[in-house]
Amino acid sequence: MKTKIWLSSPHMGTNEFNNIKEAFDTNWIAPLGPHVDGFEKDLADFLGEGVHVAALSSGTAALHLALIMLGVQAGDEVICQSMTFSASANPIAYQGAIPVFVDSENRTWNMSPDLLETAIQDRLRKGKKPKAIIVVHLYGMPAEMDRIMEIANRFDIPVVEDAAEALGSSYKGRRLGTFGAMSILSFNGNKIITTSGGGALVSNNEAYIKQARFLATQARDAAPHYQHSHIGYNYRMSNICAAIGRGQMDVLPDRVQQRRANYTFYKEAFAKLPAIQFPDEPSLEYYSNRWLSTVLVDDTKGVSREDIRLALKEENIESRPLWKPMHLQPVFANAPFYGDGTSERLFEKGLCLPSGSNMTDEERARVATKIKACFKEVTV
Ligand SMILES: *Cc1c(COP(=O)(O)O)cnc(C)c1O
Repeated sequence: MKTKIWLSSPHMGTNEFNNIKEAFDTNWIAPLGPHVDGFEKDLADFLGEGVHVAALSSGTAALHLALIMLGVQAGDEVICQSMTFSASANPIAYQGAIPVFVDSENRTWNMSPDLLETAIQDRLRKGKKPKAIIVVHLYGMPAEMDRIMEIANRFDIPVVEDAAEALGSSYKGRRLGTFGAMSILSFNGNKIITTSGGGALVSNNEAYIKQARFLATQARDAAPHYQHSHIGYNYRMSNICAAIGRGQMDVLPDRVQQRRANYTFYKEAFAKLPAIQFPDEPSLEYYSNRWLSTVLVDDTKGVSREDIRLALKEENIESRPLWKPMHLQPVFANAPFYGDGTSERLFEKGLCLPSGSNMTDEERARVATKIKACFKEVTV
């Protein structure tokens, strides 16, 4: 069996292990500690715009706290991009609220501003104002933030930016994760940088970040004994995970360049295969970290997305269909949806190719050769 090529695997730099060792040497093994403070500062400095950051146990936890702080309660409605990972929508259900899914547009594959406006107007007509809008930057590609923020502001609905896949991306020169009333990041094992598991909440409003830290540490009131006037959560990041995160921040700019180089490699490799289409940045205003390199396969040329995925699997190469839209998921079958078929079409044709920043030239060539072979055009 040939060695496995993963979709996206952890890629450590040189400082991560030294930071962990330092944590052991000083016995900061607990949740919280100096690396957590340092990691939060590193993230805030990287993102700019004067944001504040709370490091948490996961991106999902960050999204849950964001919804709690926006007052989302049982029976409320929250608008969410349909084409995304389930973690974007699950926290809506944790609160007993109802997700209202909105389809994608073709250029960025993210939330369609037109359909967002349609959805808001229809929900208002039905007598309920959505409590929040969760917009996602899929695979690192920025959503059309100007239009989405304009609509959200016009209807006075807060935006929560799910930037879990988009650390290092920017829109009009401003980093993703700084647009929403609150934004979330993920450092899960397959993301562009990882802490093994972890996430962060980001906001310009320091009050949200202080409240998030409070809620994430079991909502303990100021008293010598343990006193609680709120329901709390155990959502804080550990000092060990943050030690890894600080090392990863040292190499984040390299990781973005390496991931973008994967995309360029695939684009050049398949330049003569018109059946394989690439989601280019719509203009210079969009800068994607290219967390995952994705393609659409036009199966009218005789080769389908599944043909390619299975051929790669035979070679021990991992690839994956795009996220299956939430409105097609059995668990959200009853949720309202505003769409025009875009995400369904993307799901049918789309494939995520191996995209690790640690891929070797030889591994990338193995992927390209196998895909070309599907089209019987191998020239090696
Ligand atoms: C990974 C991811 C999350 C969740 O992050 P975790 O840290 O795994 O909880 C949320 N949204 C999107 C779009 C993601 O890709």
